[in-house]
Amino acid sequence: MTSDAFYERYESGEFKGGDEDYEKWAAAVRAARKAKDELEELRRKAESIEAAHRLAFIQCVGSRDIRFNKYCSGFCCMHAIKEAIIAREHDRDAQVYIFGMDIRAVGKGFEEYRNRGAHEAGIHYVRSRVAEVTEERDHTPVVWYEDTKERVVRRMPVDLVILSTACQPSASAKPLADLLGIELNEFGFFKTLSHLPLDTTKPGIFICGCAHSPMDIPESVAQASSAAARAAQVLSGSGTMRLAS
Ligand SMILES: Cc1cc2nc3c(=O)[nH]c(=O)nc-3n(C[C@H](O)[C@H](O)[C@H](O)COP(=O)(O)OP(=O)(O)OC[C@H]3O[C@@H](n4cnc5c(N)ncnc54)[C@H](O)[C@@H]3O)c2cc1C
Ligand code: SF4
Repeated sequence: MTSDAFYERYESGEFKGGDEDYEKWAAAVRAARKAKDELEELRRKAESIEAAHRLAFIQCVGSRDIRFNKYCSGFCCMHAIKEAIIAREHDRDAQVYIFGMDIRAVGKGFEEYRNRGAHEAGIHYVRSRVAEVTEERDHTPVVWYEDTKERVVRRMPVDLVILSTACQPSASAKPLADLLGIELNEFGFFKTLSHLPLDTTKPGIFICGCAHSPMDIPESVAQASSAAARAAQVLSGSGTMRLAS
């Protein structure tokens, strides 16, 4: 019996009588049907959406901003460039703009990647401070920004706005810190010692990656190896040890 046939018979009341197994089957079939309908709806919506050709990436949303987070989130400039290059690979007619105070391409080969984005992929880097994004009557987003080279306010209608939002500590950092008896720093990331950058304020507890601060994958992986090495030092009783305070 197909699931549709089963469900029709169930609906008709054929199985009524309190058989628990049938109730379970009916619930499963109902959920599968609902998922199928939702998928179909999404497919219809996706087909009706026109491809966006004018893309605006807005950098430092919530980062390097004294109202929110003072720090730089580290990875979003390179991530935006990567996404912009991919967008251009998919659509050679796409106009891609990256709005930001500057592009922080700090890392081996990053500056070259940034330049490749401009010269080969045709990305436009717009040195600017974005003030707001408004919507025209037809819902077209409009980016309002100060062109910090020309010192003038400009507007640019686009099809899609992509925000490079800040990397913030996990909401569970505070309860976890309380549980473990370790401290957080002023930004809410786990606090470490300046001379032992993976050691928390409690001996024997180490951190790495974005638990420490915003960082990209290669740096997180390197820190993870280092944290594992620090833990091995403690377990083997060798190397730099810190006494419990
Ligand atoms: C939109 C975006 C794009 C990015 N693009 C790039 C890129 O192109 N290249 C690049 O190098 N980097 C990129 N990054 C950065 C990259 O995601 C990080 O460097 C990397 O994820 C850090 O790894 P992590 O293991 O430290 O943290 P995470 O990957 O965040 O892993 C932490 C894990 O811990 C879990 N967790 C949190 N709190 C608790 C708790 N209390 N108990 C149990 N589990 C918990 C979380 O759910 C999560 O699974 C990007 C980040 C973002 C947000
Ligand atoms: S890495 Fe992120 S926070 Fe830092 S400058 Fe670039 S967009 Fe701004």
